[in-house]
Amino acid sequence: SLEQGPQGQETPIQVVLRVRPMSTAELRRGEQSALHCSGTQTLQVSPPGGGPDVAFRFGAVLDGARTQEDVFRACGVRRLGELALRGFSCTVFTFGQTGSGKTYTLTGPPPQGEGAPVPPSLAGIMQRTFAWLLDRAQHLGAPVTLRASYLEIYNEQVRDLLSVGSPRPLAVRWNKTRGFYVEQLRVVEIGGLEALMELLQMGLSRRRSSSHTLNQASSRSHALLTLYISRPRPQPQQMPPLDPGEPPASGKLCFVDLAGSEKVAATGSRGELMLEANNINRSLLALGHCISLLLDPQRKHNHIPFRDSKLTKLLADSLGGHGVTLMVACVSPSARCLPETLSTLRYASRAQ
Ligand code: ADP
Ligand code: MG
Repeated sequence: SLEQGPQGQETPIQVVLRVRPMSTAELRRGEQSALHCSGTQTLQVSPPGGGPDVAFRFGAVLDGARTQEDVFRACGVRRLGELALRGFSCTVFTFGQTGSGKTYTLTGPPPQGEGAPVPPSLAGIMQRTFAWLLDRAQHLGAPVTLRASYLEIYNEQVRDLLSVGSPRPLAVRWNKTRGFYVEQLRVVEIGGLEALMELLQMGLSRRRSSSHTLNQASSRSHALLTLYISRPRPQPQQMPPLDPGEPPASGKLCFVDLAGSEKVAATGSRGELMLEANNINRSLLALGHCISLLLDPQRKHNHIPFRDSKLTKLLADSLGGHGVTLMVACVSPSARCLPETLSTLRYASRAQ
């Protein structure tokens, strides 16, 4: 329960699966769907050549008919927001091959051109969480300070999406009080919902226009938007007054749009592109490796190799002990994508 916090009996990572609708291109090519949802937690996979169906179970399975609002509700992001307000570190990340709906799920479709705003009904998990969180913060009574940062990890280099000047790679450091952090990252204080939405748009458009994403925009980088939440600790009457030296409770809510999970081999890339694919794999492999060690019942004796990649360093506090992580695995229904879909489903099943 919420009172128990994330240290209770629940699994450290909750996994939701979203199957996007068939795209017009897939339909035009006459591709068949290889997936169907039975009930709200099971996905059936039918291999195209016949053979027995394979079933996968997740915390929730959402088919192509589910709206953005349905997804937001099914993901229980409000609960993560509550935990973040209480000082925990929480993370929501989307995982899946390029084109599976990761960015759509987090932030909605891209703008359809100048002056054509995305309709609110298509807003993603991030905009919905922002609106909920700012509203919640206002009703809490105690002052809540919100700050935000937005960065991209590309080729194991961290780039600030909110930097004022031209961005240079930033270093990830560690110290005892802060844990892992990005040196000289711009952290912006948020006055209200509008300011936060603007910040998101700024980061998204920088992501789309960056020099390394000429085609297949942003499919090769991981993007992390972090909200830092600070509020004074509650002081129940029956407890003695707090030590004035005690720091205020501060939580974090991090949204991660991961790079496409497709295999290095499938990219057919060499040289520079190969380096890129390897680095992406390094972050995704490190993430998978850390998750599997965290789920090991013997984990108390395990060293978790968060230091293996930039991504796992920056997610260390929500993955390890003091947080809650939600993974939204995204897949295409098309039979043509089945090999990649199966690898996404296996990665996601192992994580829960
Ligand atoms: P990814 O970020 O995983 O590469 P995108 O989020 O960019 O994938 O989605 C690929 C395309 O499919 C985009 O044009 C997007 O707008 C569309 N799309 C993805 N999910 C949905 C959905 N649930 N409903 C309608 N369109 C979607
Ligand atoms: Mg994307």
